[in-house]
Amino acid sequence: MITFLPLGGATDIGASCYYLDVEGTGIVLDCGSHPRRTGADSLPRFALLEERNVDVALITHAHQDHIDSLPYLVQHHPYIRIVSTPQTRALAEITLHNSANILREQLTEDDPVRPYTHEEIDLLIQSIEWRSYKERFTVDGYRHGSDEPVTASFHDAGHILGSAGILIEHGGRSVYYTGDINLDRQSLLPGASLPDGPVDVLVIETTHGATDDALLPDRLSEERRLARTANAVLERGGGILIPVFALGKMQELLSTLWRLMEKGQLARTDILTGGVGARLNTVYDRNRFVVPYNDTAMVLGDIPVLDLFEADTFDALARRQGIVLATSGMVIEGTASYRLAQHWLLQHRNAIFTVGYMDPETPGHRIRHADRNGTVQLTPVSEPQTVRCDIERFRFSAHSTRSGLLSIVERLNPRVVILVHGDMAAIDWMGYSILKAFPHIKVHGAEVGKPVTLF
Ligand SMILES: [Zn+2]
Repeated sequence: MITFLPLGGATDIGASCYYLDVEGTGIVLDCGSHPRRTGADSLPRFALLEERNVDVALITHAHQDHIDSLPYLVQHHPYIRIVSTPQTRALAEITLHNSANILREQLTEDDPVRPYTHEEIDLLIQSIEWRSYKERFTVDGYRHGSDEPVTASFHDAGHILGSAGILIEHGGRSVYYTGDINLDRQSLLPGASLPDGPVDVLVIETTHGATDDALLPDRLSEERRLARTANAVLERGGGILIPVFALGKMQELLSTLWRLMEKGQLARTDILTGGVGARLNTVYDRNRFVVPYNDTAMVLGDIPVLDLFEADTFDALARRQGIVLATSGMVIEGTASYRLAQHWLLQHRNAIFTVGYMDPETPGHRIRHADRNGTVQLTPVSEPQTVRCDIERFRFSAHSTRSGLLSIVERLNPRVVILVHGDMAAIDWMGYSILKAFPHIKVHGAEVGKPVTLF
């Protein structure tokens, strides 16, 4: 029997974690935390694993909502085998240490969850096995009850460096979990490469299920619009703040800005950045000949940038010309982008460019939907403030469009589709569209705690 059980990340984006039992072999697919929640609320429902076999964790990529709960899983299952691509392992070494620092600030003494330590992260990283794209490996568990082995393989998901979809195969049957997937070319990474189809079961992310394709313009025209808009702000002596995720968006945007400057489309000005994103850049640079990469001559470490945290006070930064790439991407309270945004909003010469997904309950989402001369309330408890700067909305997505997601269904031609990693509107659109276009496919919306028997 093969069963699928969502532990988190089913009907929203955050704490992605799914459990697959293949004839007694217990496989955990991803182990993320919810970026907007803290403590026990941010974790997947690990209690659902009690009394179940837990043999191996396979990780699709190093974003927080796919990997950050791994240290907690290991506390309960210390002998679990963990496998990822080598790039995910290298990136996670940086991001998990960073998360450990953030957790220590967030969690109070009486929280039932304690922050993990740097020593725990070091041991965890050492224990992660790595496998390259397309390499097939056996993952049979201790109580595997079949003569046929269970195998797994990673397939380039085109989302961030090292990101992968996971193909699980057993006895001629297959389950493919996309993780976060992007079919389209980005600045540094080419699009995903799917396994040879067909598969029996497809577990697919639905981030953009509710987003009309027209709202996700093609990358080149979006780059040109970014350059034009930025030039106008720089010409009047203003500064541009771009909130970015440290992993993925930072590297994509930095290389995009530099390429536009080199081509003469974007006025040359200081780029300011720093923090954990700058360290992740080196992992991108080191791997540019190892994984599919658009431009191996683009070395992020050679791009002249100023350190955001050493250059000036944040108030002084908001009064000078330049472009600041700062984390967090969703302008979470207390982060550099949040503190910078408070100064930016006061300056009429400035602009804030939003470039990607914002959770609806974050300050970044409120900024994205504000306008010059309107008001914005960054958090439910903060005072509303007047927006004096420009707010410009761009889309540089690292996720497939919804028509791209449908094309994955068409190419892999599964018998069963399980929809995950999207809000209800996204899941509804995807479910309806799949049933309309492919009436022979059985579609499930994943629900945390509700197992689905696949075979
Ligand atoms: Zn991701």
